Amino acid sequence: MAVMITDACINCDACAPECPVAAILSDDNEKNPYEGVKFYVRPESCVECVSHADTPRCAEACPTEGSIVWDMPFTVEFNDYYASGHEKGVYQIREHKKKGLMLPEMKEQAFMAEISIDARTSHVNVMDSF
Ligand code: SF4
Ligand code: SF4
Repeated sequence: MAVMITDACINCDACAPECPVAAILSDDNEKNPYEGVKFYVRPESCVECVSHADTPRCAEACPTEGSIVWDMPFTVEFNDYYASGHEKGVYQIREHKKKGLMLPEMKEQAFMAEISIDARTSHVNVMDSF
């Protein structure tokens, strides 16, 4: 991942059009595990805007403090974290017909190395890092 969207989200749709990799699902998308509740970032798609922008575009666009927070890098080191989150329904990782669940062990994603693991574990507000 990734960044994640919290319960502070007001479903305003300012973030999704800004994402360069279409990683954000709206609250009326049936693939969103929080359908009817809040927007959702697909961790298997989010690249933290690396190679696209200096700061995550979704967080820059979001009007609601604390709606978009850091999550763990989508890397093999955190494979179990995402596998267990998927089982608990925190995430809904995409299932590839042949490859199976697109967990980090199948495909890692870019992440901002300068963001500390502490900030990620604590799910700090993304824009507080810039
Ligand atoms: S950080 Fe960038 S890539 Fe990730 S969801 Fe936000 S806009 Fe999309
Ligand atoms: S911009 Fe922020 S408040 Fe609006 S839908 Fe996205 S996460 Fe929710």
